[in-house]
Amino acid sequence: ILIVCSIVFWIFSILASYVLARKSMRPILLSWQKQTEFVENASHELRTPLTIIQNKLEGLLTKPNERIVDEIEPIALSLSEIRHLSKLTSDLLWLSRADSNQTLLTKEPVLLNDFLAECLAPYQEIAASQGKYFWTKLASPVIAEIDKTRIQQVLVILLDNALKYTKEKETIGLGSFVEGNYWELMISDTGSGIAKENQERVFERFFREEKSRNRGTGGTGLGLPIAKWIVELHQGKIELVENTSKGCLFKVRIPLT
Ligand code: ADP
Repeated sequence: ILIVCSIVFWIFSILASYVLARKSMRPILLSWQKQTEFVENASHELRTPLTIIQNKLEGLLTKPNERIVDEIEPIALSLSEIRHLSKLTSDLLWLSRADSNQTLLTKEPVLLNDFLAECLAPYQEIAASQGKYFWTKLASPVIAEIDKTRIQQVLVILLDNALKYTKEKETIGLGSFVEGNYWELMISDTGSGIAKENQERVFERFFREEKSRNRGTGGTGLGLPIAKWIVELHQGKIELVENTSKGCLFKVRIPLT
């Protein structure tokens, strides 16, 4: 009996220490798994444009045309892939900073309406040149403590997406309001919307819907995760509050103090 009891006790203590070790190791394992996944995804995303550029340049070398104008297609395509690579590498840099907890915020008091008017001017021009309507409602004559450059980056990400998915003669909009002690920013579009099952996933790294996977749209699937990180560094929140086949409404909420 004594021998059986000690064997049972021995097995039980091994099992218990294994369970405890797994529990305490869990966060480390998860973060390691996340890092591996991130590196795999990043390598895949970097490899695709590199392969395209390599093929095009090899084609140019092996079967060159007499005149440069006959080579416009491979040159233009390679350039567009280089632009994509450049965007991808800078997005990856931002996320690696996010992972190493580098805050990098330089906050200052900012008059919101003036700041927004400045950020929106180029977008109003782009929308007009593409035959799209752009409405704005700036009802927030207040000062907020924000990092201007980083919040502008959030605006660029949301407005780029809104413009990208909105067709000609359709509308994008931006509203800025104050609700209690919060600055609320609404960005709406009348584009294709996001499939209901993907609604939660758009803030995941590298997530792109099928419609955004063709080379033409040029996305990296890293814009919204970067926007989320910046907003959260400001102790705020970013959400997709409305999403139908008639478009999306994103809301950013940042404490004023
Ligand atoms: P991307 O660089 O691909 O735009 P984002 O992280 O900004 O990356 O967006 C992730 C995906 O979410 C996009 O690829 C697209 O499928 C979808 N998405 C984001 N914003 C919109 C929008 N306003 N309308 C429709 N789909 C959107």
